[in-house]
Amino acid sequence: MPKPLVIGNWKMNGSLELTSELIHSIESSIDAKISCEVGLCVPFVYIDLARRILTTQQLSIGAQNISAYSGGAYTGEVSAAMLAEFGCRWVLIGHSERRQLFKETDNELVLKLKLAQENDMCAVFCVGETQQERESGKAFSVIERQIKTLLDDDNVCLEKVVFAYEPVWAIGTGLTATPEEAQKVHAFIRDLLRNKIGQSADKIRIIYGGSVKPENAQSLFDQQDINGGLIGGASLDKDAFLSICQNAK
Ligand code: PEP
Repeated sequence: MPKPLVIGNWKMNGSLELTSELIHSIESSIDAKISCEVGLCVPFVYIDLARRILTTQQLSIGAQNISAYSGGAYTGEVSAAMLAEFGCRWVLIGHSERRQLFKETDNELVLKLKLAQENDMCAVFCVGETQQERESGKAFSVIERQIKTLLDDDNVCLEKVVFAYEPVWAIGTGLTATPEEAQKVHAFIRDLLRNKIGQSADKIRIIYGGSVKPENAQSLFDQQDINGGLIGGASLDKDAFLSICQNAK
């Protein structure tokens, strides 16, 4: 069984004060009751402050995006090498907000993922269907398409990717996939990976995201193929976030 992982995604929230307060208080409360690995993906500008506060190995910092280019004349972009230099362990790739609002394509996302891997960062590759896609019975084909670009590229090291299943209709809406619905998709993703790399797929972490709260975390994390969570809103609340982490055993 892969070690469970809980990652907080602060999105475009925070301030110097909040970063300092939240990271200090989460870190000082990470104790024996929490056995999972914990990551926090904070806005770029707070990465340095966050990593300077950390003293425990159990908690590490990540970014929410990365450039598809390695460097050069790309105004406003932040490269994988820069993030690695600042000690980022994680980087979210293909979050639905990036796919939808910033029109990031499957091909661009593979470029980003490979640059993350070349710079020894762990890519958290997000996939998920919209409500309309689910209602029209296309959820599984959409997810297969999103993952196929990775499966087809022999330069991607699949064993080092964390997959995050995040149904778009559940992100920030208060709606959550039932544990059974989520498990079906996670098992489907695991099968796609098994077809490509065999039993090594069993060691890959597939985490769930979409309105995870302390009240529903346990039943989601109890599912066989759910290896932790990607947490948006609740990651900005120290008590809720720690309680979710305690449920990932
Ligand atoms: C997310 O942003 O990845 C997410 C899952 O958000 P929320 O937990 O707020 O639904």
